[in-house]
Amino acid sequence: MAFEMNAFLRSIPPMDELLSLCWVSQFEAELGRESVKALFDEVLTEVRADAREGKVVEGASARDMVIKRARLLIERRAATSLRSLVNATGVVVHTNLGRSPLPQKVVAAVSSIAAGYSTLEYSLSSGGRGQRNVHVEWLLRRVTGAEAALVVNNNAGAVLLALTALAAGKEVIVSHGELVEIGGSFRIPDILAFSGAKMLAVGCTNCTHLRDYRARITENTAVILKVHPSNYRVMGFSKSVPRDELAELAKSHGLIFMEDLGSGLLEQPGTAGLDTEPTVLDCIRAGVDVVTFSGDKMLGGPQIGCVAGLKTLIDRMLDHQLLRALRVDKMTLAAFETILRMYLRGESEKIPTVAMLRVSPEILRERAHRLEAEIRGTLDSLSVRSIEVDLVETDDAVGGGAFPVESLPGWGVSLRSTAGIRAEKIAERLREVRRPIVTGVRDDRVVFHLRTLLPGEVPHVAEALREVFGRGGDNA
Ligand SMILES: *Cc1c(COP(=O)(O)O)cnc(C)c1O
Repeated sequence: MAFEMNAFLRSIPPMDELLSLCWVSQFEAELGRESVKALFDEVLTEVRADAREGKVVEGASARDMVIKRARLLIERRAATSLRSLVNATGVVVHTNLGRSPLPQKVVAAVSSIAAGYSTLEYSLSSGGRGQRNVHVEWLLRRVTGAEAALVVNNNAGAVLLALTALAAGKEVIVSHGELVEIGGSFRIPDILAFSGAKMLAVGCTNCTHLRDYRARITENTAVILKVHPSNYRVMGFSKSVPRDELAELAKSHGLIFMEDLGSGLLEQPGTAGLDTEPTVLDCIRAGVDVVTFSGDKMLGGPQIGCVAGLKTLIDRMLDHQLLRALRVDKMTLAAFETILRMYLRGESEKIPTVAMLRVSPEILRERAHRLEAEIRGTLDSLSVRSIEVDLVETDDAVGGGAFPVESLPGWGVSLRSTAGIRAEKIAERLREVRRPIVTGVRDDRVVFHLRTLLPGEVPHVAEALREVFGRGGDNA
């Protein structure tokens, strides 16, 4: 018998009836009556469309279907969307998970500035308008060794502002090997096009020589651009031109030498394998005229983009209209000023990102031991016998585009079900708890990487395990 579409559609309950369901009132308090109504409407439209397209199985109850879907949707909309979670992936600068966690001191500064009025653009001495850049300008000069500096929203904005202010209508020479895409949405050729500069790509993907740059210099050239290849490496036969040689070439032709450094390393982490990354100071010392970098990658601060370099060039950016569109808000400035002061005071080891990059495998192993004991204790208390718990060595990562090849040796605790539950399934359950845990998955094991667990997060792991394995015991 054909699906009785008309009967099905007629049995969809009216809005009044839906709104009077007993569970609805708690969500009305949360979302407002009109929003709840709109969500029911959304589901009604969807269910009617499904019925017309033959996606509803015979005998299905329209009432049950509408109520079930509406409840799921309304619950989802009522829950906070931007939520805290535990990063147990071992990827330190994890862009999807918000990059750098901030130290308590920074959080305190942000909350105090956020809650009231401030000197954001106010000069206490003159009683008149001030500059928002001044709060970090001097500090940035101190930590980078540059003559001048400014900040914008993020590093993509910093690159765009610098190129627009310095090279619009002119030519920018860049190596083919550095025309990179970062994280899907930042592409050097696109940013260059957007800035109004003309890109001249020189050399080959794997090799670019100094003579390749030199050959393309004309009276229209404004900038020689060097870009950190970020999350990408050419292995084997490859050559790029060292920055001091490019600086020399730019200088001898009266050109600007700009470098997009990406990750704004201020101090060498002193970690084996990571010592090849240049600091911002290294770039300035090597003769880079303008360097751009992120505040929330290896620097460990809030999302911000920095430009440091020659005063005449920074002044051109400060005068540019685009700066207004990219300006930084007060909370970010409060956070960034506090972070920079921590560097100045020699307190960088108290910055979580920096500490995570520096921590030794031995310490991670000790922490893994403690987590292992905690996990065993928790599973025992739940009488869960079908989970194997092991201490494992891990390959952790810097993330954020830096060091795609080098991995950081770390330690973790792995879980494996002996009752046939796939690791992906366990990982999924761990993401569905009140304080979600994002773990690694390897060889059908869930792995908690200790490197990225913040102090005090072990109880969250234990609580997550109780939520996942609690009721169903071994069959969870
Ligand atoms: C990360 C990165 C960017 C983009 O920086 P955001 O702070 O994410 O805007 C640009 N260039 C390089 C080389 C990068 O590594």
